[in-house]
Amino acid sequence: MGAEPYYGPDFGLLHRQDPELARVLLDELDRLRGGIQLIASENFASPAVLAALGSTLTNKYAEGYPGRRYYAGCEVVDRAEQLAIDRAKRLFGADHVNVQPHSGASANLAAYAALLQPGDTVLAMELSHGGHLTHGSRVNFSGRWFDVVAYGVRRDTELIDYDEVRELALRHQPKMIICGATAYPREIDFAVFRGIADEVGAWLLADVAHTIGLMAGGALPSAVPYADVVTFTTHKALRGPRGGGVMCTGELAAKIDRAVFPFIQGGPLMHAVAAKAVAFGEALRPEFAGYARQVVANARVLADALAAEGVRPVSGGTDSHLALIDLREAGVSGAVAEQRCTAAGITLNRNAIPYDPEPPTVTSGIRVGTPCVTTQGMGPEQMKEVASMIAQVIRNPDAAGEIRERAAALSKIHQIYPS
Ligand SMILES: *Cc1c(COP(=O)(O)O)cnc(C)c1O
Repeated sequence: MGAEPYYGPDFGLLHRQDPELARVLLDELDRLRGGIQLIASENFASPAVLAALGSTLTNKYAEGYPGRRYYAGCEVVDRAEQLAIDRAKRLFGADHVNVQPHSGASANLAAYAALLQPGDTVLAMELSHGGHLTHGSRVNFSGRWFDVVAYGVRRDTELIDYDEVRELALRHQPKMIICGATAYPREIDFAVFRGIADEVGAWLLADVAHTIGLMAGGALPSAVPYADVVTFTTHKALRGPRGGGVMCTGELAAKIDRAVFPFIQGGPLMHAVAAKAVAFGEALRPEFAGYARQVVANARVLADALAAEGVRPVSGGTDSHLALIDLREAGVSGAVAEQRCTAAGITLNRNAIPYDPEPPTVTSGIRVGTPCVTTQGMGPEQMKEVASMIAQVIRNPDAAGEIRERAAALSKIHQIYPS
């Protein structure tokens, strides 16, 4: 291959030039290695993805799209973006892909901008039932600029109430229906959403920020054949760089592209676009299907083992990479459990459960996810051990010291970024 190109991520140099910042990077790696990471939206990107992220492509201004840029000198970075687009199309069978959104929230903003006018009616999942801030929260642009009607899950089954979705759609005639969630453990029936959208003449947006990686690996059905627009992130189960993307039908391609640039963004982050290409390339390999299946299998074992420990998974289990755990039987709030687990080296987040009697800062639940531990190579046996550690420490904070040692030992056997 000839001389090594200069990528940039020379840690020794960073350490000599800026020891203060270098310390932050080392401490963060120590934090990760010293415990168990169960934040459902996180993952560990590969060294190849990190190399692309740390590359000189960060320097290039490339407003526009491959072959039609507003700056000179883009012929090389064009290849990176074209690779990302072609690989994503191959992976998901989409007609059109835009890989420039800086994040999942930006991808959603672009989708709204392409299809709606301010004041239009949108039907989306209630935040407290698992929806996302960008699906109509009052503190977000979506709730401020659009008239958002919310559907939720049934009280008895804790599954999406498709009858309610249809009723609300018929009553409010939304211009767009959003499916996809941030804390919903079960498979979403995109075909039913498609049918309802067709019945009322609404666009269907599937926000699969969380599950895109499982779709890529074939562990969950794809939303692409059903939705007009599919928004996603690249850093969650997909295991790529922090970022977002939009897929859509050929009919909407130009609208989506104009909404991303020049409407909501300026120059794309070409180092991140290159890293997205690397991640899509990784997801195209057969091993990734094995990874995706293992993520789901691990989440099922973790949820079942927690149930056996006396804390109930919402809806009785999971079809995905995450489980939502109702802690009321254990007599602790989500906030207290989060704090106790953190003290024991287990990082997870408190989360509202459907019809939660507690406010969002307290909550009655926690959300646990398996993308990180599965990337580390953990399997069902380790998930059972993690469940027992969680169950122990949420009831008995005095066990934190001992659990912390067990968590560090487990993480050490399955080391992240081994040198
Ligand atoms: C994570 C997430 C987003 C936002 O992604 P960011 O990259 O944090 O902006 C949007 N929608 C859903 C459903 C998500 O889970």
